[in-house]
Amino acid sequence: MKPNVLERVTRDVPTAQPCVVIHYAEVGLKGENRSMFENQLMRNIKRALADAGIGLVRRFHGRFALVLPRDYDWELLESRLKNVFGVAYFAPAVLTEQAIEPIEAAALALMKQMVFQTFRVSTRRSQKAFPYNSQQVNVRIGAAIQKQSGARVDLSHPQRTCYIEIFDRFAILYAERIAGPRGLPVGVSERAVSLLSAGIDSPVASYTIMKRGVRLIFVHFHSVPFTSDASIRNSGRLVRLLTQYQYDSKLYLVPFLEVQQEIMLKAPTDYRVVLYRRFMLRLAERIARRERARALVTGESIAQVASQTLSNLQVINEVTRLPVLRPLSGNDKEEIVEMARKLGTYDISVEPYEDCCSLFVPRHPVTRARLEVVQEAEARLDVEGLIRDALQRAEVVRFRFPEGGTGPTDGTG
Ligand code: ATP
Ligand code: MG
Repeated sequence: MKPNVLERVTRDVPTAQPCVVIHYAEVGLKGENRSMFENQLMRNIKRALADAGIGLVRRFHGRFALVLPRDYDWELLESRLKNVFGVAYFAPAVLTEQAIEPIEAAALALMKQMVFQTFRVSTRRSQKAFPYNSQQVNVRIGAAIQKQSGARVDLSHPQRTCYIEIFDRFAILYAERIAGPRGLPVGVSERAVSLLSAGIDSPVASYTIMKRGVRLIFVHFHSVPFTSDASIRNSGRLVRLLTQYQYDSKLYLVPFLEVQQEIMLKAPTDYRVVLYRRFMLRLAERIARRERARALVTGESIAQVASQTLSNLQVINEVTRLPVLRPLSGNDKEEIVEMARKLGTYDISVEPYEDCCSLFVPRHPVTRARLEVVQEAEARLDVEGLIRDALQRAEVVRFRFPEGGTGPTDGTG
């Protein structure tokens, strides 16, 4: 629906107020969890629309309504609400007083803007004191719409539905639902540290976990100055894009070259990648502790590359007691590419960069890593010293949405 539909409706019915009604998935949410969900969703909606002039968000009977300011930007509102996790659907709507005449006038004005041959009216009533029950409202308003439009009522497959929701002191009407992303509002499911390469998989993995309400702290390992800073720039662009789902992100940029050099010098060639990954998880775990995060996230997918066989995942996992979430473990590359395209990260991910790990990768990496071999190799390394040093030299970049832009980097010591 075009934004001017609401304008035309309010021109016909000056007492009607343009608004957006937002429905959320509430299945299985009870008691305290439910109010936590609602409060977080409310905060996130306000945050997502911080620059859209939305002042008032009302909550009632399992929905929100945003009263629109005089000059609202519908495209901006729509693009933002489509990315707020927890939103099941939303609709451009009008709010009227709770009486049958203004409801009928608004319904007629609204449906006049639509093209349809068949329709129905679907009324829900939370205020039982309203003198008409839902069915009576459907019949009365349906007859009026039929008379105005000449369209036929079809209860099972209508081309258009006029939704009427009646509350204590007002009613809300709308005729088009726009799908939200569903999921849970970011912030209700604690935090995790996401290992973000500049590749295709890890941004998709991050999105998948954020959608379950988890706030992510991002970590990128780089090999500057041996490589250019392209991977740093690309990871920053990815985090900026992903920040539109959680509004505030931290990206840790961790120098990894020294770790790689030590491994190259002192460990068997075919074990390099497994050892790199073990160090990555150790470093990510330290950051998780600092950030009070409860899990790690990677973009690994079973057997996609040699380092991602089950044997290798087991040996890699052995360095941490935090759960390692691998939301893409069951997806193949094509599926992941498709998700990346939809998300908009694909074009950033395929930009050329020298990956810190593809640099020193052996031609025949081990596919069934053995823990004894790994432990023996690591015994020759100053594991703790390498970790401490890398963390000391890590930088942190902040990202905010919608304000955008990166803040100053601060050393993390
Ligand atoms: P991606 O597209 O995410 O890079 P990939 O198929 O290339 O995935 P690998 O390079 O083997 O897989 O990396 C596996 C996972 O390890 C990545 O999904 C990511 O979570 C993590 N990882 C790899 N390299 C880095 C890096 N430089 N910085 C942070 N995390 C990394
Ligand atoms: Mg990679």
